[in-house]
Amino acid sequence: MGHRTPAQPRRPRWCRVNVRVPPNITTEMVRTLAINESVCVRPILRRVTDRATGATTTVAIPCGCTRESRCPSCAKKARWLRMTQCAEGWHRDDEPEEPEEPDALDLEEPDQDDEDADEDDADEEQRRVRSTRRRQDVSNLPRVPVENRTVGRTFTAPSGVRYRPSMFVTLTLPSYGKVIPGRGVPVHPGRYDYRRAALDALHFPKLVDRWVQNLRRGAGYKVQHFSAVEPQRRLAPHLHTALRGAIPRQVVKAVTKGTYLQIWWPAIDKDVYFDRFPLWDREGQCYRDPDTGLPLPTWRQALDALDADQGARPVHVMRFGSQVDIKGIDGGSPDADRAVRYLTKYLTKAVTETYADPDGEHIDPAYEAHIDRLHAELRYLPCSPECANWLRYGVEPKNPGPGLIPGYCASKAHDREHLGLGGRRVLVSRKWSGKTLTEHRADRAAVVRQVLQAAGVDAPEADRLSVDVLHEDGQPRFVWDDLPVTGADYTEVLVASVMERRRWRAQYETAKQVALERDGPPVDNRSATSNDDIAPDAA
Ligand SMILES: [Zn+2]
Ligand SMILES: [Zn+2]
Repeated sequence: MGHRTPAQPRRPRWCRVNVRVPPNITTEMVRTLAINESVCVRPILRRVTDRATGATTTVAIPCGCTRESRCPSCAKKARWLRMTQCAEGWHRDDEPEEPEEPDALDLEEPDQDDEDADEDDADEEQRRVRSTRRRQDVSNLPRVPVENRTVGRTFTAPSGVRYRPSMFVTLTLPSYGKVIPGRGVPVHPGRYDYRRAALDALHFPKLVDRWVQNLRRGAGYKVQHFSAVEPQRRLAPHLHTALRGAIPRQVVKAVTKGTYLQIWWPAIDKDVYFDRFPLWDREGQCYRDPDTGLPLPTWRQALDALDADQGARPVHVMRFGSQVDIKGIDGGSPDADRAVRYLTKYLTKAVTETYADPDGEHIDPAYEAHIDRLHAELRYLPCSPECANWLRYGVEPKNPGPGLIPGYCASKAHDREHLGLGGRRVLVSRKWSGKTLTEHRADRAAVVRQVLQAAGVDAPEADRLSVDVLHEDGQPRFVWDDLPVTGADYTEVLVASVMERRRWRAQYETAKQVALERDGPPVDNRSATSNDDIAPDAA
């Protein structure tokens, strides 16, 4: 590199890549070092050109993956962020604002305030008139007027101590057949109901949404929750949920017992096409039968036919299992901290990784067979109205396009490693912490910046290399382009990242020490984490 450019990036999130690594240092050594320092092991490289000087710089950006098996460092950070989100919202005693742009992926569906909301509907856009009578085979739901508040009641003891009681609830799904305790393997695989297990897994988040709606009506306020969907050893999803406010146990139990979900979709009990599939007609923008050339019924037509059929039954009905675990938790107690860690414990693992032996040394063939059988069901069941698998059942999916092949839907829900839980592993109410994940992340950066500023250290200027910085011609001064990772030496990139990280951490620690000596207690006392997790580059 030539002379230094005026734009020295004091960026916490990026680092310049220009180090030489001695040849006796192996890739594996560097990777271990990076993990120990919480530095991303799969950084994305980008080249930035400074139009003012013509100089180019290579910067490494963390991959941001949430899976420990891919990037332990980024997964740890993602989990830390979820812990913060969970802890900040749980025991609030004031009403949070609703975030302006909610995280689209994991928020629950909007409240359904109409009378028939606990009825049958899995396709919000095409809500149709169905029987509004509750199923006769399900017990009644408790119901009281719902107050317009999301916080629970708090109590002040005569001693002055304030209590903010709340709940930690675990819900499970019913049995699909006996399993061997500790191994999660069916006693009689031939009698295990894999199809029901697969359908329940695919629709589980919707059942949870329904439960929360019912809980609000039973508890009498707009209960907020932070929930994690995780697999049990038998690989059925179950739910750990933190609820704000205390709700009587019998209400939680009655709501769990009386909650059900009905899926009104076209029939999936017959494979209409299984060796030759419908063909896309580009001109007609539709799928046609490979033999007759007739167009398949569209999604809308199929639902219309379902409406017209007086004898139609839901394609799937699901409920929770009888096992309900309810704990009262006090805000600020060690139990609350433990629960937050427990809730987020498995979020960094894919479903099939959760109970797998990390070294793969003690593989249980029966367990692998169990995974295979469940996956075989999940591969061809429809995951959503848009799913390619509808072609198998003779229905054109909603919003069709070319290239759809049954068994090859793009949703992760069908994958062997996810087993039905494609997205939505964390379900969060809109008024939980009042912040999006992005805002929680920005909080973190702001804390770091404050500490540095207070100590007189030049704060990391947010975007020294940002596209928002303009050149004298009014155009962006820094131009970013993609650079293939293969274009750089992996070990050099990682070592540069580690060195950058150390520099920042040292500065941050010094700044905190300065603040401590000057002002007493440290600024950073509200996050749900240890010092090790403090990541100036939490992005
Ligand atoms: Zn990473
Ligand atoms: Zn699908």
